[in-house]
Amino acid sequence: MAYAYDDQNIFAKILRGEIPNDTVAESDHSLAFRDIAPMAPDHVLVIPKGAYVTYDHFAAEASDAEIVDFNRMIAKVVDILGVGPGADGEGYRLISNAGRSGVQEVPHLHVHILGGRVLGRMVQ
Ligand code: 5GP
Repeated sequence: MAYAYDDQNIFAKILRGEIPNDTVAESDHSLAFRDIAPMAPDHVLVIPKGAYVTYDHFAAEASDAEIVDFNRMIAKVVDILGVGPGADGEGYRLISNAGRSGVQEVPHLHVHILGGRVLGRMVQ
């Protein structure tokens, strides 16, 4: 499957330093920053630095190093936020919206990490 990546999307601009962001953590292949319109007290977006549109695009085409780095970044952010239930945090939710049915606003892969309150049922 061919994935078309639009390098004018807002997260590509953040990665190029054209738009500021509130960085939580950064690694070789990933960036984590606070959502500009948080839907919970903790709302962080984790993105790969590579040009991937959706999670399936990333899973299909990213290198092993990128995939490991991205997943470790999610674990790192959960740790920084202190929300990991295994570490006595209250828990959290991961969401990655994809495409039109997924109501994806920004066409650069991002995983939302939401926590800091009881989030309620997931699917609308
Ligand atoms: P999506 O619906 O694509 O999963 O969500 C995109 C998310 O990106 C939204 O939660 C929105 O608030 C966030 N967002 C959009 N523009 C910006 C921005 O310029 N900076 C930051 N930090 N977040 C943004």
